[in-house]
Amino acid sequence: MSRINLQGIGMTSQRTRDRLIERLREKGITSADVLEVMRATPRHIFLDEALSHRAYEDSALPIGFQQTLSQPYIVARMTELLLAEGPRRRVLEVGTGSGYQTAVLAQLVDRVYSVERIRPLQEKARQRLSQLGLRNAHLRHADGGMGWAQRGPYDGILSTAAPEQVPEELLEQLAVGGRLVIPVGAQGKQQQLRVYDRSDTGIVEQVMDSVLFVPLVSGVLS
Ligand code: SAH
Repeated sequence: MSRINLQGIGMTSQRTRDRLIERLREKGITSADVLEVMRATPRHIFLDEALSHRAYEDSALPIGFQQTLSQPYIVARMTELLLAEGPRRRVLEVGTGSGYQTAVLAQLVDRVYSVERIRPLQEKARQRLSQLGLRNAHLRHADGGMGWAQRGPYDGILSTAAPEQVPEELLEQLAVGGRLVIPVGAQGKQQQLRVYDRSDTGIVEQVMDSVLFVPLVSGVLS
């Protein structure tokens, strides 16, 4: 687990950030750890300057390349689901994007491995994570639909992009006791947030909320 270093980072007012945390609580987020980490994490540095004033609204925001930084509620919800059944030491994230979800995870688990297919997004995310001093996040430019087998198996896998069907590779890279949290469904249609738990007898699926995510796309973009 890492602690963020806020030196040299202009922070919006504590009140603005507290208000967001209050909203997350009202919407049903109960994990004190998740709420505390999100209170401490400066979301505005993960956005272009023109949008940074909206960083503490509970909404998804564009990060370029037709991608979005997920809504804070969704980040909180997925993180809470991922961590619900005990600690997760090694976690894989599919879709680094801005790096915000990566930063949240890095403060809650031992090591985060995060894969992004769009190189410029990955590079920016790398700079931001290093600016925050989060050294336990390891990034890779690759197609995350294949997971990251060399670093697995994982206690937790979280995908921030939606495939039409859950990739076998991700299920295979779950350790026994591991949990996958992933939105599933076609673009423009209702998608489902699903949770998969691997036990020594097999995989159990749970369907949670209906959600809207950008698609999981195969191949990489330089
Ligand atoms: N977690 C991000 C959300 C970004 S949106 C954040 O907090 O900002 C989802 C991201 O998934 C996009 O950056 C998109 O490029 C990426 N993505 C989509 N398909 C992918 C794939 N097959 N492998 C890796 N990343 C992928």
